[in-house]
Parts: sequence; C-alpha cells; structure tokens
Amino acid sequence: MVALAHTKGTARRRLHDLIMIPLIEPNLSGNEARYLSECIASNFVSSVGPFVTRFERLVADAAGCWNGVATTTGTAALHVALIALGVRPGDLVIMPALTFIGTANAASYCHARPVFLDISAASWTLDPAMLESFLGEECRLEQDGVVHAATRARIGAVVAVHTLGHPADMDQLEAVCARYGLPLLADAAAALGATYRGAPALARGTLASISFNGNKTVTSGGGGAVVGQSAQLLDTVRHLATTARVGAEYEYDRVGFNYRMTNLQAAVGVAHMERLDEFVARKRAIAHRYDEALADLPGITPFPKTSWAESACWYSGFAATLACPRSGAEIIDHLRNGQIGARRFWGRCTFRRPTLTRVVTLPCSTTLTDEQQAQVIDAVRALIGTGNQ
Ligand SMILES: *Cc1c(COP(=O)(O)O)cnc(C)c1O
Repeated sequence: MVALAHTKGTARRRLHDLIMIPLIEPNLSGNEARYLSECIASNFVSSVGPFVTRFERLVADAAGCWNGVATTTGTAALHVALIALGVRPGDLVIMPALTFIGTANAASYCHARPVFLDISAASWTLDPAMLESFLGEECRLEQDGVVHAATRARIGAVVAVHTLGHPADMDQLEAVCARYGLPLLADAAAALGATYRGAPALARGTLASISFNGNKTVTSGGGGAVVGQSAQLLDTVRHLATTARVGAEYEYDRVGFNYRMTNLQAAVGVAHMERLDEFVARKRAIAHRYDEALADLPGITPFPKTSWAESACWYSGFAATLACPRSGAEIIDHLRNGQIGARRFWGRCTFRRPTLTRVVTLPCSTTLTDEQQAQVIDAVRALIGTGNQ
C-alpha cells in the first residue's frame, strides 16, 4: 500500500512539474501522514480531539496570545470573532478596500454591512488617517456608540487586514479605535510569523483571526483560528463555534455555529505548525530574491515593506504601475503561457489605488526550487526588461 501510494504520488508530481510551476502549493513533507495515521488508529477524527488542543496551543504561542480557538475556516473565524466583539444586525463594519471577499462576507453573515476605507500606499493596509477622518467627520458619538450620521447605523467593529502577510499599523489603529471605544479585529489570515515592532503581530488588536486554507503558509487543509489575550472573549468565540451548547445534553443558549476544527485537520495543522519558522524564513527568502532580481525593471513596484513590521511574505510578486510597458494582465498571460503559475491578487474592484494597474503574484511555495525561481525571473525579465538596459 505504501509503495503504491508513493508511486502514484511520484507520477502525479511528474505530471505536475511538466504542467507548470505552481503559484502556491502545500508542503506536506513533514509529520502530516504520521499524525493523520494516529487520528485513524485512535478513532479520533471529528471535532475536539487531542490534535485540536495541541494545535490551538501551538498557534496561540506563535501568535503571542493567551489562547486560541480553532475553527473550520478563516471566514468562520472572522464571523464568530465579529459576533463576540459585539457586532449586531444593522451595524457597519469598517474594513480596508483591499481585502479578500471573506472579510466582507463575515460582516454580511452578521447581518451587518461592510464599509470600505482606503488603504495606505506604504503598506496596502487600512489607513489610520482614513479611519480617523471617517469616524471624526462622518460619525457621531451617541448613547448607543459610534453612529454613522448619514445612515444612522452603529459602527460595530473595525477590521484591519494584514495584507499579503504584512501587518497593518496597529499602534495607530489601536489608538484611533480606543478613542472611539471600538473593538479592533485583525484579519491576520496569512500573517502567522509576521512581527510588528519586533513582537508577534497577531498579539495586537482586540482579537485576531487566522486562516489555514490550503494556500496559506501554514495549512490544515482547511481551517481557521481566533487568537487573543482575553479569556472572556475567547470563551464566547469557543461557545459560538460549538453550536452555543450548554452542558452535555441538547441545550443551547443562543444561535450558534458548527464551526469547530476536526482532529484530522488539526493533525495536519500541528505538523505544519512545527515548521512555521522554517516556512516563514523560506517565504521571506523567496520574496527577497524576486525583489532584488526585478528591482531595475520599469514600473515594477515590490510588495510593501515598512519600518514598523516584518512581513510573513505569504505571497511574492509585484504591482505593475502605469510606468510598466506591459499591463499586469499581459504579464500574467505571458507567464502562464510559459507554464508559470502567476495570478492576479484579489480583485481590482476592492482596490482603489489608481497608479497600480494590477498586482501580480508569482510562484512562492516553500517547495519552490532555486532553478524554478530563476526560470520565473527570466520569464518576467524577458517580457519587461527591454529598453531599460
Ligand atoms: C484566506 C483569507 C481569508 C479566508 O480564509 P478561509 O480559510 O479561506 O475562509 C480571509 N481573509 C483574508 C485576508 C485571507 O487572505
């Protein structure tokens, strides 16, 4: 059986290599298979098993948090975190205009509405000045909290997104939120391993949520987590994600959700968490090499770097500006024709910076070989590197 599985895997791998250099693929060369076998041998496959508890501990420690609650997806984590933070039907939830649809969906699941504010050019994360002016000029402090004057809707929460694994400016955002008494949720979906002013970025904000989807640096196949410093808030998150059950019998005290991670997912997650430092170091090295190798090309802007943070470098790539002789779409087409898994990043509709025509992501799996990366660099340079030598 083992030999057969191995042969199949090898055949699939060869086919895969022929087809293309993948944009991003999970690295399953650690203890994943061993831990999955342990689940099966012990008959612990469903939610709440030893791997789930171990996973939550590893994630909370890496995040610099008191504890964590593992969930089925990152979007589910966002959803229960927003409810725990007090978001109610009819509220507005402030978030950056550049984000994944899951951030906005989570607000909609709460019967709240997302309000998109612009990002800062330096970090591509929620602009604290924009947040300050929206709250100061368009909202009023009333008995019920902060109310948006034009719609009479209450502001339920602010969500910062650590875009591409790069932390938002949490000192500034926390200061503004504190002034208005608003909870701050960090959508840290792909930011595990990132630091903010030298400490784990996920320790900041009222709560932070993470995704362990297959394309994230650390994956459990599918999964998510909410981490934080408040035992009370995390108890509420755990309760909401466990169908709001009270006691061992079929009794519930509110509308809850079946959002708990399974032991099978957590087994893969634990194997991946064991390699977090190694994976993040490799991601950073890949990003650094692309940045250096493409720096002289016209109209190519590297992904943001700031003085306040060190990104977890979830994705590698660049933004093509109007000064680039090729549009982002042309670059992606060219790379794909050369069997290189390039892709645009999130949507243009949620991206309001007009100078950036398109964000291009490049192959950046931890399994990427140096030769493959050289091939990607050559392909980009062959298309754009003309007229500038
Ligand atoms: C991946 C991601 C999510 C969603 O996570 P899922 O696990 O796919 O539900 C949410 N927000 C951001 C910023 C993400 O990158």
